[in-house]
Amino acid sequence: MPDSQFWWLIAFPVFFGLGWLAARVDIKHVLSETRSLPASYFKGLNFLLNGETNRAVDVYVDIARHHAETVELQFTLGHLFRRRGELERAIRMHQKLLTRRDLNAVQRQQAQFELAQDFMKAGLFDRAETILTELANTDYARQARTELLAVYQQEKDWPKAIETARQLRDDSHNYQHEIAQFYCELAAQAHTRSHTEEALGFLEQALEANRQCARARLILGEIAYAAGDHQAAIDHWLQLEMQDPLYLALAARQLLAAYEALGQSEEGTTLLLRLLQQYPELDVLDLAYERMLAQRGLDAAYAFVRERLQTHPTMPSLRKVLEAHMLVAPDEQKAELDIIVKLLNDATREQTMYFCNHCGFKAKQYFWHCPACTAWEAFAPVRGRKNRLHQTESY
Ligand SMILES: [Zn+2]
Repeated sequence: MPDSQFWWLIAFPVFFGLGWLAARVDIKHVLSETRSLPASYFKGLNFLLNGETNRAVDVYVDIARHHAETVELQFTLGHLFRRRGELERAIRMHQKLLTRRDLNAVQRQQAQFELAQDFMKAGLFDRAETILTELANTDYARQARTELLAVYQQEKDWPKAIETARQLRDDSHNYQHEIAQFYCELAAQAHTRSHTEEALGFLEQALEANRQCARARLILGEIAYAAGDHQAAIDHWLQLEMQDPLYLALAARQLLAAYEALGQSEEGTTLLLRLLQQYPELDVLDLAYERMLAQRGLDAAYAFVRERLQTHPTMPSLRKVLEAHMLVAPDEQKAELDIIVKLLNDATREQTMYFCNHCGFKAKQYFWHCPACTAWEAFAPVRGRKNRLHQTESY
């Protein structure tokens, strides 16, 4: 038998033995790791996965009591408390963590960041701001700035919001819509205080940040209107047609008033009808019907809405036809028609509301800044519409 074959006979069991040993060492390591985690840890995890946060918290509080040294567990608990709205408990937990001497720099920053979020949720914005500002030069800088931006918006501190949004700009988000909106907020404030020059300056900056900013055009029109320069107001508002015509709906009533002030009431109505024809979604049907009724009489108004129902068979068109029909119908039909209109209004109540495209929040009033999810320009300027079709996103 050659030597090489003999060696293989010995080597094979040796390699096998080494492999077995390695596997055994590994298993031992795993077993010791598993033993170091209390079974209740998995129980808590299970509750979390099932969405049973309350029961998970009870389990983790119990573990934390017996393993006070585990920093990560304290973070998890603090997070859970905040999510459950137990803000005092979350704050206490994170404050206690910050007094520990065994925290490393990253853990300390994490605890600060968590505490800032607790304060924000509790509405203690000044305390959150102090901590977040301290984190500006740490690994948490970007997250802290993002939260700071939320704080400044809550506090309506628009100059600081502008500065922070500029610092946050990057390839993924250039904040041009937000920055333009912050300038519009400043302009609206200045306009309310009759500081016209200041307001105009802010609007210029708003348009510099986002030249498609519809709100800036709307406020420019309002300022001109308030100053009695009705032609300039009309010119500003009509520029919206080039940008996003649906926003004209928000100025439509004032636009007609400006034409009226110039003694061109009929021109105003003609323009409104032309816009409605050109942009069927423009939310001015109520106004157009009202104008037709006042200026051209019931027959013309009735014919107008009936034609509209033929070309655009929508619930708002139907509502208008029934409304007009009520005025021409014989008395014996009126009680019945009244019930039909009432039922139709109840069934289509949502169509008289503005919707936030981010969170679905609905409101009678139009918002530039969603009160529920704080998104900007998330409401379509068309009541009843849940998705914007003519979105002018330029990023
Ligand atoms: Zn929203």
